[in-house]
Order: sequence, then structure tokens, then C-alpha cells
Amino acid sequence: MELIRRIHLMREIAREARGRGKKIGLVPTMGALHDGHLYLVRRARELCDLVVVSVFVNPTQFGANEDFDRYPSDLTRDADLCVQEGVDYLFSPSAEEMYPPGFRTYVEVEGLSQVFEGASRPGHFRGVATVVLKLFNIVRPHFSFFGQKDGQQVIVVRRMIRDLNLEVELVVCPTQRDADGLALSSRNAYLSPEERAAATCLYRALERARELVEEQGDGPCDARKIEAAMREVIESEPLARLDYLAITDAETLERLDVVDRQALVALAVWIGETRLIDNVILSPKKTRQPGAEGEQP
Ligand code: AMP
Repeated sequence: MELIRRIHLMREIAREARGRGKKIGLVPTMGALHDGHLYLVRRARELCDLVVVSVFVNPTQFGANEDFDRYPSDLTRDADLCVQEGVDYLFSPSAEEMYPPGFRTYVEVEGLSQVFEGASRPGHFRGVATVVLKLFNIVRPHFSFFGQKDGQQVIVVRRMIRDLNLEVELVVCPTQRDADGLALSSRNAYLSPEERAAATCLYRALERARELVEEQGDGPCDARKIEAAMREVIESEPLARLDYLAITDAETLERLDVVDRQALVALAVWIGETRLIDNVILSPKKTRQPGAEGEQP
């Protein structure tokens, strides 16, 4: 495996591989790799000839008071993991390389970027869409691998791919969880043991939603009833504070009054000083595993 720091080198490698007819897979990450990331890498390894993992803590997707300066980072460990997984290239440019002086162009996916996660973190998806488009242009992947864990991100990136006629196929992988249901996340490293125990409330709230939709069988389920039940789970946890709770159309992010179609049920919760997000995709007829491949709208 080779570590690539410079854009022009990554471009040359990708151009040459494309020329030889190789299928390129890109796994964009911010590093501090865990089994959630590695699931994406394994899917990429299965589907592609050449696997590129990017590790870039993207400054433009962090707000002024967020955790950019203390975001966990260990490139040596990440590189070791990538070697073990048979990754071909680890692309980890500097912030200056990606955003040189004079940088002025940003991608805005209107509407989808401003609600829920985007409302809590203004400018976040503008930063995400911009860096993802840059990575697509540098690596020119045939396939790009994203986790359902960041459900709204998937919706934003999918919209951008369609709207800008990008020639890349999005592969969405299911959320990987610890045994007690907590979604794996680089930010879980911030949690104290008490907070780690409290953090299961996100999954418990989502499970409550799943149960309620299941109980309805084929019939539509009242979204307010689901919201109330989820709130109850979060509020019963003293270390948790709900940021937002969203029950929306899984593609348009339009709020639903009744779950009568495939719905994204998403939430963000503060556990002490750490903000965690999670989601599931539910539908009235049968309840699905979140984000399993082939189940995307
Ligand atoms: P991040 O490094 O947090 O920006 O995540 C990089 C990619 O890994 C994104 O597509 C995430 O959705 C995905 N990812 C993060 N955590 C998980 C998880 N627990 N399960 C599946 N995918 C994940």
C-alpha cells in the first residue's frame, strides 16, 4: 500500500489505472478508522480492482465551535489497518493541499443541506459536498462507499451525483454497531464510561420507533406517536439531551405526519459534551435493517 499526500500524484495514479480498465473504489473518511469504516473498505475490496481510502479531516465541514481541533487522528494506525485490509492507496492530503490560498468554490445542495443535521450544523453539508466532489474529481472512482450511519449525508451526496451528472456509483453500507447497539463512530472515543453506557439511548430510541412501525403492520403509523415514544427514551437518560429528531421521507427529507412510505428516522443527541447521530430506515410493510445495500430509495 502506498500513502499519497499530493493531489497531482493521486490523479496520475487514478488516470493510469482507469486507462488500464481498472475499476476504482473510493472510501472517503476522516480517519481514526474503526470497524464501520472497515466494512466500507471490505465492500470496496470485493467490488473494485483498485481501492483508495481517503483520510482527510475536512475543515470546511466543521463549525467554529465544533471539534475540528481535537478530532481523533492516528494516521500510522489507519495506515496499518489499510494494509491489513488490502487497500491499494491511502490518500491523505493536507488542508493546504485541498484548500490552497484563493480557494473560493463551494457546492451547495439546496434544501437538503439546511434541515436537521444541516440546521444544527450550518455550512456542514456545503463542506461535505465540496470535499466529496473534489475527491471524486481527484480519484475518479467508479464506485464510492458511504455508510448509512450518516443518513442525511447519503441523501445529500446522492442528490449531488444526480444533479451534477457525476459518473460514480454510490454504494451505501449498513451501519455497524457495537454489541449493545451503539453505532460505531470516531467520536465515541470522547465518551467517559458513564457516557458510553448512556449513549445506547440513541439505539434504544430507534428500536422503539421500529417496534411501533412493526406493530402497525401494513397500516400507516402516526409519526407524532413515534416521536413521543423516542423522546421518552432519550429523556429518561439523565446524561442525554436531544438535539433533533426527524421522521422524514427517506429521499426528499420532507417531514412525515404518518409513516406511509420508506422513512428516515434520524436523531442527534448530546451525551455530555459529545454530539452523536444515528438513524434507521423504516417502512410500513416490513421493517428493514438500516441502510442495507439494495434497500436505498
Ligand atoms: P467519517 O470518518 O466519520 O467521516 O466516516 C466516513 C464514512 O464511514 C462515512 O461514509 C460514514 O457514514 C461511514 N461510517 C462511519 N461510521 C460508520 C458505521 N458505524 N457504520 C457504517 N459506516 C460508517
